[in-house]
Amino acid sequence: MRLIGLIGGMSWQSTAEYYRLINEMVAEQLGGLHSARCLVYSVDFAPIERMQADGHWVDAAIELGRAARAVEAGGAELLVLCTNTMHKIAPEIQAAVRIPLLHIADATAAAALAAGVRTVGLLGTRFTMAEPFLSDRLAAHGLRVLVPNAQDRRLVSDIIYAELCRGVVRPESRAAYRGVIRRLTTAGAQGIVFGCTEIELLVDQSDSDVPVFASTRLHCAAAVEAALSV
Ligand code: GLU
Repeated sequence: MRLIGLIGGMSWQSTAEYYRLINEMVAEQLGGLHSARCLVYSVDFAPIERMQADGHWVDAAIELGRAARAVEAGGAELLVLCTNTMHKIAPEIQAAVRIPLLHIADATAAAALAAGVRTVGLLGTRFTMAEPFLSDRLAAHGLRVLVPNAQDRRLVSDIIYAELCRGVVRPESRAAYRGVIRRLTTAGAQGIVFGCTEIELLVDQSDSDVPVFASTRLHCAAAVEAALSV
């Protein structure tokens, strides 16, 4: 089994899910007392969030490049960046190491395509929804990507930072997300991408009439597959 290197803490609420899911998936596949070989480098999210808000992505790339090198030096054989948003600087992080970075959008796109979905609605942080770094990667796989309108983008993103990244899960926010999902579906989305690793803490398939593609779970499955396919 390859050693999985996780760069997390963005936020730790979802990194805890990565750790749980990866271990559950390995146990499911290998049985018995098997668990994942992994190394978790968890950052302090406050300064990272500040860098995002201030547009200091070069500083963020230096910081996460350092984390990637530490994980590689620790023996990790593949890299999992436990956040969609920071995939904005995935090329810089990949350039800092020799081990492969498993891009979160590749895992998500593969699941949508396998389900026969061609048009997806994308939920995530304001960066992920308004900028092209994730949409373009999904589109490169042949998916058409719809994003919520400006008001809904603000709502979805504010709930991520003000609530989910702090471990707060409110029924009112679940209802608000349901509304956004409904509007995306009406606009033509055949599937909904949970393109933020905390969204799975709030909503699931039961909140959508169309299939949902949860990036955390799909990213974990891709990491486990890569780790076990030696
Ligand atoms: N975990 C989130 C994501 O998947 C948001 C936190 C962050 O800004 O990194 O995008």
